[in-house]
Amino acid sequence: MGFVTHNEGGTWVGDPGHAVPNCSDPAFRTRVEAAFAAALGPGLNCIRATPGLDELATLLATKTLDAIDIDCDDDVCRQSAASLPSGDPPLAAERGPGLNRIAYCTGAFTLTQQALNALTFHELIHSCGGYEIDAYALEAHCFSGSGAASVPTVFIYGPDPLPCAAGHLLVGRFVVWDHARSGRVFVKNQSGGDWLSAPAITAGVDLNVQFGPDTFVMPPWAAGCV
Ligand SMILES: [Zn+2]
Repeated sequence: MGFVTHNEGGTWVGDPGHAVPNCSDPAFRTRVEAAFAAALGPGLNCIRATPGLDELATLLATKTLDAIDIDCDDDVCRQSAASLPSGDPPLAAERGPGLNRIAYCTGAFTLTQQALNALTFHELIHSCGGYEIDAYALEAHCFSGSGAASVPTVFIYGPDPLPCAAGHLLVGRFVVWDHARSGRVFVKNQSGGDWLSAPAITAGVDLNVQFGPDTFVMPPWAAGCV
């Protein structure tokens, strides 16, 4: 649908009013359009150029500006603010994997264009089903030096419990993280598996990102994944 609108100016005597985008600043809407162009241009090209991410590339190509509901500073921004460090306003709110919605919060309005590009790419990875580890890793891989700045020093993991593969790889939707050894993040390779056995998950292409051991704070269920 593109930019979400609300109605202004209507009266009960018949004036239907007119639709006004919730992202009311036309300059910001132009910047969001440029961010989508970057995410689906250089960003998508980066995903296509990375072996093993074919499924993500196909999904990401469908996430056009018209396919996403784009909102500004709505209720979800205020809700998510509660879980962030004080003084650190949320940049964009997430409605969960697979949902075609991005709400830009007030912190996003003053970002540089490059940072807005990387942020939008990050949110679109979520809309393809990516977890935080997928979104941060692929943002860093594809927008390093051109806007990617949002890999947190400490990210309290959750609420999604990630499985463990090969005894030491935390498994995201598109990537795996060798958190206890090298800190490297790899494309997730998956093979085999049927109704009797789980697929084998291994580390694929080494991505251009390394998270420190404290980047994602390990919840108790990950203790066996070393
Ligand atoms: Zn995220």
